[in-house]
Amino acid sequence: MNRPIPGTVEVAVRHILSDRVTGILVRTRRTTWRDSLYRVRRPQTGKQTVELTCPVCDASLLAEVRTEERTRRTKLVLRVLAALSAIVFFAAFAYAVHEGGRTLPEGQSLPLLFPVSVVAICVMFIAAPTFFVRGRAYNGVSLLDAPKPRRVHGIKSVRA
Ligand SMILES: [Zn+2]
Repeated sequence: MNRPIPGTVEVAVRHILSDRVTGILVRTRRTTWRDSLYRVRRPQTGKQTVELTCPVCDASLLAEVRTEERTRRTKLVLRVLAALSAIVFFAAFAYAVHEGGRTLPEGQSLPLLFPVSVVAICVMFIAAPTFFVRGRAYNGVSLLDAPKPRRVHGIKSVRA
């Protein structure tokens, strides 16, 4: 992979060729696509809209590019959210194990915090890896607009 050039970002314009779900008992999703690499210049301030052309079907896509500074900040926020979700997950897990494992005296029910901790475990189990993956992949470039059918295209980050 090429070395990163300051002030620019490499993105892949993805054209989904086919997306099929097969199988009855075990569902397998088969997606095929073609990625085309582009190097996009980042703006000095604010955000900038750039037009990229999909070489597969000639569609023109509008992408929004943010500054390096802003991209770094968003990545940091996502990383912090991932860490916080992980902390809440482990704290709620420890609490639920502790509270659920106790033998309660006759007529006493589990505290209200117990179901809350169970919900927190479920939510954070999804949230922590989601924030983590988003934070790693975030590059400050997002797809603004594409001709219909829109879901045929996507903009993916390319890691240097
Ligand atoms: Zn296309």
